[in-house]
Amino acid sequence: MTKERSQCKDIWVYLEQEHGQLEKAGLELFTPARALADAYHEDVVAILIGGQITSAMIAHAASLGADTVIAVAGSGYGEYHTEAFADAFCILAEKYRPNSILIGASDNGRDLAPRIAARLKTGLTADCIDIRPGDEKVTRFICPAFGGNLLATIICPQRRPQMATVRAGVFRQPEENKRECTVIRETVPQKPLRTVLAGSVRKEQDGNCGLEKAKIIVAGGRGMGGAKNFELIRELAGELGGAAASSRPPADLGWISHEHMVGQTGASIMADLYIACGISGAIQHMTGVSSAKTVIAINTDPDAPIFKAADFGIVGDAVEIIPALLKELRKRKTNESEKGEFLK
Ligand SMILES: Cc1cc2nc3c(=O)[nH]c(=O)nc-3n(C[C@H](O)[C@H](O)[C@H](O)COP(=O)(O)OP(=O)(O)OC[C@H]3O[C@@H](n4cnc5c(N)ncnc54)[C@H](O)[C@@H]3O)c2cc1C
Repeated sequence: MTKERSQCKDIWVYLEQEHGQLEKAGLELFTPARALADAYHEDVVAILIGGQITSAMIAHAASLGADTVIAVAGSGYGEYHTEAFADAFCILAEKYRPNSILIGASDNGRDLAPRIAARLKTGLTADCIDIRPGDEKVTRFICPAFGGNLLATIICPQRRPQMATVRAGVFRQPEENKRECTVIRETVPQKPLRTVLAGSVRKEQDGNCGLEKAKIIVAGGRGMGGAKNFELIRELAGELGGAAASSRPPADLGWISHEHMVGQTGASIMADLYIACGISGAIQHMTGVSSAKTVIAINTDPDAPIFKAADFGIVGDAVEIIPALLKELRKRKTNESEKGEFLK
């Protein structure tokens, strides 16, 4: 947009919806949006575009921190369509001139965001792993660069809006709090579209086997040494009622499928407990672990980088330590159930 920077205000969060449900990737963006809005003394504005925008969706957006919801509903928005959604979004952006636009890096979000950025002639930082307020309302977007070997801080000092996409699982969704918000229902003119969506096929499986929602995750790396030893990861995950995951090598080597991979090109997790066994802690892996609450690392190398990120570390052979952990866990479970029997 060619408007003066000072004329642009508010942090927009795009709330993608599918089958009437708001997508997680968008809802989590209320966390960085609120941090920016508070630092810049601006508002958080949720953008909803769809066949129908229900009062439940608006209440959900308000409960997560939207001060305003701008809703565009119409039969042309029942299914995501690049042109239709980009048109609507750009009309809104030209009218309201946001300071920033945050979009979840879902398949559709990744399609939509660059198109909006190109039309508005502004910058877009893709796949951010952190977003921080900066001086003079110039936001600092942090993302992996050069094959993920370093983290770059990207700014968009001149153009507005400042745009970013963020993958699901990078930020924790804020606590829901019942509150009111201003609702603006907009009607935007719909141009004839150059392409028509003939149909869509729904993917059957959750792409990352629920890793993004798992509370306990046990992950194995190359240090597990082979497919047979990797079974210990599944066993420990099962014993703890959690999910099994991996770094890239075990997935590439076929010890586990790629849907279980955590990291820059895998899932971003936000587990309460992440146990990393035989994982060195490469930056590409750790970008997917940044939202885990507690990290325990088991590694033979006391200088492995994972220990810098871990809350607890065990220096030793995971292939020996996991069976010992399993034994202890099973012993405690038996003791507890025996105690339960006794009390009865
Ligand atoms: C563009 C790009 C994207 C990438 N995306 C991802 C991604 O999304 N996720 C990801 O994980 N990687 C990703 N990678 C790969 C990443 O750079 C690392 O190569 C990978 O994470 C290393 O996996 P690892 O820690 O299992 O193996 P290694 O780095 O080989 O580490 C193995 C560790 O196991 C320890 N060890 C050995 N034996 C034992 C034992 N018996 N018990 C305990 N510890 C032991 C070793 O001390 C070592 O620290 C990406 C790379 C690139 C270039």
